Amino acid sequence: MACTAIVGINWGDEGKGRMVDLLTEAFDVVVRYQGGANAGHEVINQYGKFALHSLPSGVCRKGVVNILGNGVALDPELLSQELAELKGQGLEITPENVKISDRASLLLPWHRMLDELEEHRLKDKKFGSTKSGIAPFYSDKYQKKTVLAGELFYPKLLKKHLLDLMKWKNMIITEVYGADPVTEKDIDKWLKESCEQIKPYVQDTREFLLQAAWDNKRILFEAQMGTLRDLDYGIYPYTTSSNTLAAYAPVGSGMPGAVIDRIIGVVKSFSTCIGQGPFVCEYFGEEADRLRKIGREDAEEAGRVRRVGPIDLVATRYGVEVQAATEIALTKLDVLSELDEIPLCVAYELNGERITHMPFPSALADCKPVYETMKGWKCDISQVRNWWDLPEEAKAYVNRIEHEVGQVVRWISVGPERHSIIRRG
Ligand code: GDP
Ligand code: MG
Repeated sequence: MACTAIVGINWGDEGKGRMVDLLTEAFDVVVRYQGGANAGHEVINQYGKFALHSLPSGVCRKGVVNILGNGVALDPELLSQELAELKGQGLEITPENVKISDRASLLLPWHRMLDELEEHRLKDKKFGSTKSGIAPFYSDKYQKKTVLAGELFYPKLLKKHLLDLMKWKNMIITEVYGADPVTEKDIDKWLKESCEQIKPYVQDTREFLLQAAWDNKRILFEAQMGTLRDLDYGIYPYTTSSNTLAAYAPVGSGMPGAVIDRIIGVVKSFSTCIGQGPFVCEYFGEEADRLRKIGREDAEEAGRVRRVGPIDLVATRYGVEVQAATEIALTKLDVLSELDEIPLCVAYELNGERITHMPFPSALADCKPVYETMKGWKCDISQVRNWWDLPEEAKAYVNRIEHEVGQVVRWISVGPERHSIIRRG
């Protein structure tokens, strides 16, 4: 059995989706093992341009089975919209190629609302949540106060379970936040309009994966967000509420006994970060505007501007370490082509000392970036498909990253399309 995980090494949006879309040419099954519909993976291939949120990025490959594992935050409302959208774009989506674990917990009608109410209460101390209900969802999951997708097959019990939870939740909604309560009518609407749409896809995916493993199928585990957002190893509390680490993949996907032989870490050629939290390598002012522009990172996301900086070798090395990545996919190298000099954040300065390891999260606020530059290549590389055809300066930049993080860069992407890739042996 060959199991591979693909994970983000940085703060997210490294280009995991496009790498999954490419790599599934050699896989039979893709499983998303954590996170929710707050993900945004852009995939561009011969079938079109797709914005994936909950579904694994293998949905564009015929013959690949896409699974939402038990570790995800399953949002029936957003998932049913996504399914409809992708079908509308011409993708074939059936219970044959999309399967939802019956043990996945459902993001309930009040989770998004609670996320918003809490961010509003926090005002300037807010975490920069996407307000998709992920934090309230995971808190409730661990309090055992949500429902499992498989409960959709037990409608009477489910309704009673939901009404009990609603009663408890409404005390918090009305008495803590002073907002309007959720009603039984809201629940019925949600069950009918959203849950019924996803129900045909729900099954025992653990059984399916076990059989797939016996049949020697190749399985890919897909992470959402990046390492620095991992609940336990990221920049807590500016993390997400689940584990983005490959180590969590077996548990969150429904193959608790899986041994992962390869962990592909996706690293972006420069740094971007959306939301709050320490971001040591950050550029500001005109310098930031320029990098945002050339990096095509200037589109706002949910009203938030993307923070940018040079590649952060301290954070990237840490990411590779905690993910135990065995190889690297380096993305968006093409966007650095117009720079005369390529900046790198090679170390941090903390209390007058130069450090190259990731400090405890509370110390990050006092860390100053130490930058270096390398010579730019100043030519279009978006059509290059062969390592040896890259300009020497670009090769030097890739080699430097490889040397600093201690793992081989096996793929280099030079454009957002599926085929815009350089593979190294
Ligand atoms: P994910 O969340 O890790 O899957 O990444 P996103 O899809 O959110 O963000 C990556 C963005 O960069 C998307 O808009 C991609 O289309 C784009 N992208 C990915 N790889 C490349 C590349 O090699 N070059 C360029 N120019 N854009 C890329
Ligand atoms: Mg994204």
